[in-house]
Amino acid sequence: MLMAHKIRLDPNNVQVTHLARAAGVARFAYNWALNEWGCLYQAYLVDPALPKPTEAALGRKLNAIKRIEFPWMLEVTKCAPQMAILQLGRAFSNFFAHRARYPKFRCKGRDDRFTLSNDQFQVKDKRIRVPKLGWVRMCERLRFTGRIVSACIRRVADHWYASITVDVPERAHRPPSENQGAVGVDLGVSRLATLSTGETFTGPKALRHSLQRLRRLSKALSRKVKGSRNRVKAKRKLGRHHARIAAIRHDGLHRVTTNITRRFHTIGVEDLNVKGMVKNGRLSRAIVDMGFAELRRQLEYKAEWCGGQVVVIDRWYPSSKTCSCCGTRIDTLYLAQRQWCCAACGTTHDRDINAAINLRDMAVSSTVSACGGEGTGLVSEHKVKPALVKQESIGKASFR
Ligand SMILES: [Zn+2]
Repeated sequence: MLMAHKIRLDPNNVQVTHLARAAGVARFAYNWALNEWGCLYQAYLVDPALPKPTEAALGRKLNAIKRIEFPWMLEVTKCAPQMAILQLGRAFSNFFAHRARYPKFRCKGRDDRFTLSNDQFQVKDKRIRVPKLGWVRMCERLRFTGRIVSACIRRVADHWYASITVDVPERAHRPPSENQGAVGVDLGVSRLATLSTGETFTGPKALRHSLQRLRRLSKALSRKVKGSRNRVKAKRKLGRHHARIAAIRHDGLHRVTTNITRRFHTIGVEDLNVKGMVKNGRLSRAIVDMGFAELRRQLEYKAEWCGGQVVVIDRWYPSSKTCSCCGTRIDTLYLAQRQWCCAACGTTHDRDINAAINLRDMAVSSTVSACGGEGTGLVSEHKVKPALVKQESIGKASFR
């Protein structure tokens, strides 16, 4: 099982310059190859006798010309351009498989990263050895033991991080879940998650609490003269603040998902239409701030680690409007209505807890029916993704 540990680096000034240069080389190689790819493909369209572009051919071409045309590339590790072209190849195969859009050019300041293959770096205690640079201090030790696969070194705001991917033996790293059975998780805006047991997780609402400062810093940046030193400083401050908001949000989500997956085996969640919900102008910011998609992603991979399963319930299943006691379904329930009384059996329901109980029951019935061979049609047992699908997803999260 592949797991990634994202560790903050503690480089000195010389090392920071070198890391930035390596990231620049990776970006240049990526953009060069993307441009070449387009040109070669145009040529192929005109004359089908010419070869179609491939990542291997582009890698060879760059290797052949870099000594003469881009000698500055040799100052940093050869992994930087090589792995960037490899990643472009992956981006194209995702594009051809309709999993992603056409690859975009990388942008300075946003995509400052480069990847090292496992034969090109070493990790020892709290240090990582980057070729042509030497040992760089890390803020903590690598948490996992196993075969090291690769490392991606990237800049977030003005800090550098190494996210090191390790092939960990199955389930060797954490105890199985306590197995308190099944649970339903209802996601909401005012309360991040409500469990069918009645517990609630508020979530940190990172953006809401930092919005004022975010506004002030953004305004300060927009007032600075373009190209001035003060603008650079203001930009750095704003970047740090954005990174802080993201960190608070991630921390909150990790706490919730670790708690749930450690305790429960079967987890029922709703398949939320986040894209559609965000179109609601009043709630969009609150919804985005919660990070529902990330929450589900974490639940899925953490459940797999603990030997549990996540059951995704169809988004059209009326979990809020169905009475969890007698199964009666009411016609209308406004978003503001936090409690309601069932006309058939007289039970008063808390909106979120009732929904969570319904999700739990659906999850249980789907796992039973999966064994019996008869599905309800509303439940799709979600195949849990492997913990790492692509490089992007590991860069964002540090797993715990
Ligand atoms: Zn009822």
